[in-house]
Amino acid sequence: MKQDKNLFTLIPKVDELLEEDNIEKLLNIMPRKLVVDAIREEIDLLRNNIRNGELKEEEIIKINKNMPKLIIDRANRKNSYKLKRVVNGTGIVIHTNIGRSLISMDVMDNIKDIATNYSNLEYDLEKGERGSRYSHLEDIIIEITGGEAAMVVNNNAAAVLLVLSTMAKDKEVIVSRGELIEIGGSFRIPDVMEQSGAKLVSVGTTNKTHLWDFENAITEDTAALLKVHTSNYRILGFTSSVSAEELYELKAKYNIPLIEDLGSGVLIDLSKYSLEYEPTVQDSIKNGVDVVTFSGDKLLGGPQAGIIVGKREYIEAMKKNPLTRAFRIDKFTISALEATLRLYLDEKIAVEKIPTLKMLSMSIEELENKAKTLYNLLTENIDNKKCKVEIVDDYSEVGGGSLPLEKIATKCIMLTLNNLSVSEFERNLRECKIPIITRVYRDKVYIDLRTVKEDEFNIVVGGIAYGLRELKGVH
Ligand SMILES: *Cc1c(COP(=O)(O)O)cnc(C)c1O
Repeated sequence: MKQDKNLFTLIPKVDELLEEDNIEKLLNIMPRKLVVDAIREEIDLLRNNIRNGELKEEEIIKINKNMPKLIIDRANRKNSYKLKRVVNGTGIVIHTNIGRSLISMDVMDNIKDIATNYSNLEYDLEKGERGSRYSHLEDIIIEITGGEAAMVVNNNAAAVLLVLSTMAKDKEVIVSRGELIEIGGSFRIPDVMEQSGAKLVSVGTTNKTHLWDFENAITEDTAALLKVHTSNYRILGFTSSVSAEELYELKAKYNIPLIEDLGSGVLIDLSKYSLEYEPTVQDSIKNGVDVVTFSGDKLLGGPQAGIIVGKREYIEAMKKNPLTRAFRIDKFTISALEATLRLYLDEKIAVEKIPTLKMLSMSIEELENKAKTLYNLLTENIDNKKCKVEIVDDYSEVGGGSLPLEKIATKCIMLTLNNLSVSEFERNLRECKIPIITRVYRDKVYIDLRTVKEDEFNIVVGGIAYGLRELKGVH
């Protein structure tokens, strides 16, 4: 007990630490309270460890020497944003967990301009009176998709809910059993349907649905036929589904509106860029679909949004639905979406400037060149005894519940650790100041060059060097 007391006297005082050179410097760039908190927490930690009898005198002296650095690290961690940028080494282009689509720099300029100034968000500059926030987007969506009218809400889940609530409340909606999908974040078509007040009438079987299944289910209460794009999975083998084109026959014969939830919102023919053909919004409109919904931040490559395009009478009714107020988009979304859509007026520019499209259409030569540059930087800057670096062939994924079967050839950096823990290394990479998210497969760590920008290479090299340095245990 007596000796413990002596040890406690070795604990430094807050005021002393505040006078340390490096900590004083910290006070210039961080709130004082945060620095003091960091000091107190380190001191508490030390005191607890002494109390638990875990530390000898020499160890305490060693910790005290290192104290300013421990405090600075802790203060830096406390001072960092909770939502922060990461490096996407996974090769999954539309990765819902790490931000889905990246906004183009050109688009960013517009967002900044709108967000830091007043704007005509809901102001009609011609009439000098109140205007509609949806008016800014409607014309350009119509121009690109060929639809009659359009509006935009917070995301596609909200769009589907709004459409069903407006067009089919207390009525029946017929859907194929093969299209009763669940996508990430617990969006399930049957649940959304229930929320909207529409009654789900599912027809056909899991693998096969025929046109006559739909026709047999039509009653006086049928408010709409719904086609859902099975974005994130495919049924293969003995299957058949009813296309929107076929459903159009029924729509015309019985005069029942046809709704399509397209999911991804593709506006260009992706097969031109060696991807699988994915139905475009323009196709749906051409096929006579009355109302189409899709996401703004999947293959479209814009901000999070749910876009609704179709017949004017339905869109006008949606604008009057009280849910629209609850689902309304803010000025960030409007400025980002308008600027992104403008890029689509010239397809070549869209593919070049919209990061999602650019990454998906990146050539293997470009990927190989990037891989070589990163390889050279890595071998020059990391501990090559701990880790072997190689360039390997691999596959990227589209992600975001789009083109689930598509495997796009890519180039990766593959890291093989020399008798060290891969899981610890992977965790170290996630703990970097700018975390690096990688793919681990069979004890190797992969970094896909498709989703890593050239200007992130230094971050990656620094992160990997750190990750190796911090490795403690031997595998
Ligand atoms: C992704 C998706 C949704 C939901 O879109 P969010 O924009 O994420 O809300 C709805 N339906 C389908 C078919 C989808 O693929």
